[in-house]
Amino acid sequence: MAQSTAPNLGALEAILDRRAPGGRSELIPTLFDVQRLYGHLSPDVLEAIGRRLRVPLAEIHGVVEFYTMLYARPTGRTIVRVCTSPMCAQAGGQAALEAACGYLGVVTDQASADGQFQVERVECLGLCDHAPAALVGDTPVAHVDPKRPQEWVLRPREAPLGVIAGEPRWLSGRCGKIEPTDLEAYVAMGGYQGLARALGTMTPAEVVAEVKAAGLVGRGGAAFPTGAKLEMTAAAPADEHYVVCNADESEPGTFKDRLLMEGDPFFVLEAMAIAGYAIGARRGYLYVRGEYPRAQRILHQAIEAAQRAGFLGEDILGSGFSFWIELRSGAGAYICGEETALFDSIEGKRGFPRIKPPFPTTHGLFGKPTAINNVETLCALAWIVAHGAQAYRSQGTSDSPGTKLFCLSGDVVRPGVYEVPYGTPLADLLTLAGGVQGQLQAVLLGGAAGAFAGPDQLDLPMSFEGLRQAGLPLGSGVVMAIRAGRDLRQTLLSLAHFFAHESCGKCFPCRLGTQRQLEIMEKVAHGRASPGDVAALEDIGYAMTSASLCGLGMTAGGAILSALARWPEIFTDGRA
Ligand code: SF4
Repeated sequence: MAQSTAPNLGALEAILDRRAPGGRSELIPTLFDVQRLYGHLSPDVLEAIGRRLRVPLAEIHGVVEFYTMLYARPTGRTIVRVCTSPMCAQAGGQAALEAACGYLGVVTDQASADGQFQVERVECLGLCDHAPAALVGDTPVAHVDPKRPQEWVLRPREAPLGVIAGEPRWLSGRCGKIEPTDLEAYVAMGGYQGLARALGTMTPAEVVAEVKAAGLVGRGGAAFPTGAKLEMTAAAPADEHYVVCNADESEPGTFKDRLLMEGDPFFVLEAMAIAGYAIGARRGYLYVRGEYPRAQRILHQAIEAAQRAGFLGEDILGSGFSFWIELRSGAGAYICGEETALFDSIEGKRGFPRIKPPFPTTHGLFGKPTAINNVETLCALAWIVAHGAQAYRSQGTSDSPGTKLFCLSGDVVRPGVYEVPYGTPLADLLTLAGGVQGQLQAVLLGGAAGAFAGPDQLDLPMSFEGLRQAGLPLGSGVVMAIRAGRDLRQTLLSLAHFFAHESCGKCFPCRLGTQRQLEIMEKVAHGRASPGDVAALEDIGYAMTSASLCGLGMTAGGAILSALARWPEIFTDGRA
């Protein structure tokens, strides 16, 4: 992070001149711009921003304090973020964090004496296929070695772009085969067929009908029917409608959207434009998590190229339909993956989930009807419009049609993203990833908010209905293998830490429940938990599930409750 010693008032004024007309919704981009200029956000600078953007100073401080990637105090010039999520922790993330601190002679979150570096623990970088991973400045680094911190701290080498394997490669066919920002290559491999078909031969209602006929449901975990969402948004009366692509992929163990954005960015842009046409929107927001600087860079280039070529902007392909996309960066808050918290973030506020109803289809971004979907869902939508609903239904099951991108991580030979038809047995997925390293102890399905399957469940069909019957979530497609010999309590502790850190604090059951859950899991992990503690852990889990305001709190106890039901003995070391 650049850190100026002398205030550059001309540059500050230039940022404010450019951003101020957008008002409050420009607040977070302004804070990022100014932070890049000065290295941090000092009180006088915040005052200047507040005056120009007409945002009360107290609210600006609230925003800065809410997001972990905004800094009110000076930081080291290069921030070394080391991932300690369960996947990276299992692969040595904690040791890498300690090694980086030891090498630089710092404690976490404090700048080194020369002001050059700062080391931070982060919950998930979405680099689970490269565990243990770090983000050094803006460079994603794979397999950081705790024994050689100087190599990756001082000379970080960028992790390779991921490749998606599996069959059929409907959503991932171009990833790894083309230069991501090469528009001609994208078009040569079937890109923009869906948009051309929609604009040239279909009415918006026909696009919606095609998506409904395909049976597409959201791929972020909630599995809401995408066609119905488009239909309701299009039908909501308003002077503006919005498309939002939720690329705030932060669920530990989930990294499929990163691979799509980094490997096939035009696909995401095309999909958003089709969704915009379907609902009558002229504007879309692409909200990419702050921990994905490479994806942001690639998407930024792709947006410019698509605009130059007439695939975005005014009168796309001469159809009369106009659509613009604005790229927004997240700022380090997992909760902004919740759709209404994401809207608040775009609007320049802290990312707090809203009470629903009303739903985004009628009252979304800026209070307008909004269709919000994640990257994979939108890409599936574009594929359906290009190839037809019938083709889409030729794979998968009748209740879960099509293909799914699964994220394989943990103790498998080849961690990565695999595209397979819904209904593929869990055992086949693990085989695709080269099998388990050692004997399988458990598989965490669905991510931090998920649940555990045992080695006796390898024939489980990976479809919504197949997993539902087994009482397991499909979630966003996380499949994390844990081999025998690993201490599951450490995995659970890491999950508890994640939720305690990421709870936004808006509602009581989650704010207190996640903290109390962490305290008890610390006792469990150190073999000090009593049966009373375990009973309390269960109560807390059920209270959070039933009384929390949003999905984070509702699922924060899920994996721990699942482990408790399956392996109660590990919680008390057999003590009565
Ligand atoms: Fe915030 Fe947790 Fe309540 Fe969701 S459930 S609103 S994350 S405190």
